[in-house]
Amino acid sequence: MAIAGFPVLDFHAIAGTPRGYHGIMILETFPVGPLQCNCTLLGDEAAGEAIVIDPGDEISRIHKRLTSLGLKLKQIVITHAHIDHVGGALKLKRLTGAPILLNENDLPLLDMMDKQAAWLGIPTPETAPPDEVLLDGQQVGVDAYPAQVLHTPGHTQGSVCLHFVPLKMVIAGDTLFAGSIGRTDLPGGDGDQIIDSIHTRLLKLPDETRVIPGHGPMTTIGAERKSNPFLQS
Ligand SMILES: [Zn+2]
Repeated sequence: MAIAGFPVLDFHAIAGTPRGYHGIMILETFPVGPLQCNCTLLGDEAAGEAIVIDPGDEISRIHKRLTSLGLKLKQIVITHAHIDHVGGALKLKRLTGAPILLNENDLPLLDMMDKQAAWLGIPTPETAPPDEVLLDGQQVGVDAYPAQVLHTPGHTQGSVCLHFVPLKMVIAGDTLFAGSIGRTDLPGGDGDQIIDSIHTRLLKLPDETRVIPGHGPMTTIGAERKSNPFLQS
């Protein structure tokens, strides 16, 4: 179920399918763009619907994948408005008609897209304000695989994580990585706040919760609680 040419974090065997539901879950995470942001496609084959999280780049390939799977895109969910996570969102919206969801505290970062592009020395992608603002506690996702939005400011003021409760999985954006945490030296970053967000929101989740970070390999809440050097007190 991989996109050809993408190294894929294969999650099928780990996440499985929630009890009592007999559809087939499609869950693919693959790095996109020069900063290799982990983009995730989560779909329900029976309902023919999907969401895409953090389509930072490589939109034509993501769109082709949705088309080949026969999935209608329901939502484009952005964990935060850094260019490597949000850069392709408008392009994907134009191809699919799906709404873009982003926490409003990151709107200032959307307005700095030319500056963000200059930091990386890449062309400025066209962006637009989100169609819906992502609020803490809100539910997103396809009906069979809902996620609760956790507002976790610190990497940016509008950073969110998505907790797929029945799947025991969290998509962490750039808040938590395997063995590390998100940088806080960019505009909107706050070092104390990210630590507080991780302790009060993410480390409250069960140890077995799988974590798909915004970059790099998967981990679990338990592994990070035990050995992440930034989280030991
Ligand atoms: Zn970021």
